[in-house]
This record gives sequence, structure tokens and C-alpha cells, in this order.
Amino acid sequence: MTDIILRFENVTFRYPETLTEALQGLNLDVPRGKVTAILGPNGAGKTTLLRLAYGRYVPTRGQIWLEGRLLGAYTRQQIGRMVALVPQREANPFAYSLLEYVLLGRAPYLLPLQMPAASDVAIAWEALERVGLHHLARRSVQALSGGEYQLLLVARALAQQPRLLLLDEPTSHLDLANKKRLVECLRSLVSAGVTILMTSHEPEVVSALAQHVILMREGRVLHSGPLDALWTPE
Ligand code: ADP
Ligand code: ADP
Repeated sequence: MTDIILRFENVTFRYPETLTEALQGLNLDVPRGKVTAILGPNGAGKTTLLRLAYGRYVPTRGQIWLEGRLLGAYTRQQIGRMVALVPQREANPFAYSLLEYVLLGRAPYLLPLQMPAASDVAIAWEALERVGLHHLARRSVQALSGGEYQLLLVARALAQQPRLLLLDEPTSHLDLANKKRLVECLRSLVSAGVTILMTSHEPEVVSALAQHVILMREGRVLHSGPLDALWTPE
């Protein structure tokens, strides 16, 4: 196994509807077993990069490698077993309970009224415990606050038991106590061998978690290296 879990090679991505080139020949290596933070101003392409890494979009040009294999060579299910994405937000039209919603991370094709496997329920419950939402397990997702909903998206991703966890601004709606809890939760995942790639605008979260940082602007990588090197003058 190489020490690079995810590699972007000359990746260009153009949104077909608007022809915006969100990524422009981007090169990137994500080291295994660490927390990598993607930093950069709004519109730099951070969210787009995470969507491509999850296989939601296919590069217009260039290649993405996951575990040394082209991302396009995996099926959706295979990607879902290796990679989980915590989006910034998501349209949520259904009246799921929290437990049911997190179960979608285990069994995305489960039909209404179909019984989930007991082992999947146990994993979903543990994911809710990790983010501190287990006491709300039977409540409707629609009744959650913004911060609780953000934690729920994390729990759903944890239920996938990914080896690569992608998070898009995961603390943007969290209060201080929940920020600390999430930082601890992510740290314990890393000790268990999970690789994390996240975006964040919050310096205290980045400095508490990231060992590696990638600085982006206008769809390109400006800098990639250890966190401490970022603050060293040229
Ligand atoms: P924020 O500024 O809060 O990060 P986003 O960039 O996430 O907002 O945008 C919110 C939604 O709008 C996302 O689903 C994103 O895909 C979509 N979006 C963002 N920019 C454009 C655009 N130029 N054209 C169409 N949809 C866009
Ligand atoms: P960041 O996450 O760094 O703020 P994004 O990846 O959201 O950047 O956006 C990069 C560029 O792509 C921006 O110019 C944005 O407007 C555009 N963009 C993002 N989402 C969409 C979308 N769904 N459709 C069209 N353009 C989009």
C-alpha cells in the first residue's frame, strides 16, 4: 500500500450548465492516515474537489486515483464502502427519524418498511453516539437545528465506516462544545487509521486537527505541505 490514498492528476472540471472551470489542471496528493485540510477563499473549488473525490462528478480532463486505481474503475457501491462525504448541506425532503437517516449510510437502497439488518442498526446507533445525537434517535430529522443537522450528516458518513472521510466545512454551524466534540471524534477516527480530507475556514479547527494543508485558489493548488510550513515566510 502506498502512503498516498487519493491522487488528482491534472484534473480540470467544468460545470456543464454554466461552463465554470471550477478546477483547472489541479494536482494533489492526499497522504494516508492523516488529516489534510483544504484552505482557500470562496469559489476556489474546494467543494467541487470533494464532490469529484466522492465520484459525484467525473473530471472533464485528467485522472483521479483512489488506492492506486482509477476512481472511474470502481462501482458506486465500491466507492461508498471506501469513501464517505459530509456535504455542507443537503436537500432533505423526507420525514426520516435520525436513526433511519443514519442507516442510509449503511443501506442506501433500503426501501421503506424493509427491515434493516441488526448489525447495521448497531453501527448506525454507535455513529449517533459518537456525535452525541443518540438521545434524539427517534426524533424527526425535520425538527433538528442547523448544528444538529450538521452532526447528523457526520453520523451518516461514519455509519459508512469509510477509510477516507471527506468533510466540507463540518463545523460551520456548530457551537463551541460541539466543535470540540467533533474535533475529538475526528481525532479518534484518525487514531483508528481513517484518512481525513476536509475544508475549513476555522483556524482553530485546522490547527487542532490538520497535519497537512493544501492551499487552493481559482481551481488550482498554490501550496501543499505540513501545517507548520504554511506560516513560515518564504
Ligand atoms: P456557499 O457560498 O455557502 O459555499 P455553495 O457554493 O455551497 O454556497 O452553493 C450553494 C449551492 O449552489 C450548491 O449546491 C452549489 O452547487 C450551487 N452553486 C454554487 N455556485 C453555483 C453556480 N455558479 N451556478 C449554479 N449553482 C451553483
Ligand atoms: P469553494 O468550495 O472553494 O467555495 P466551489 O467548489 O463551491 O468553491 O466553487 C468553485 C466554482 O464553481 C465557483 O465559481 C462556483 O460558483 C462554481 N460552482 C460551484 N457549484 C456549481 C454548480 N453546481 N454549478 C455551476 N457552478 C458551480
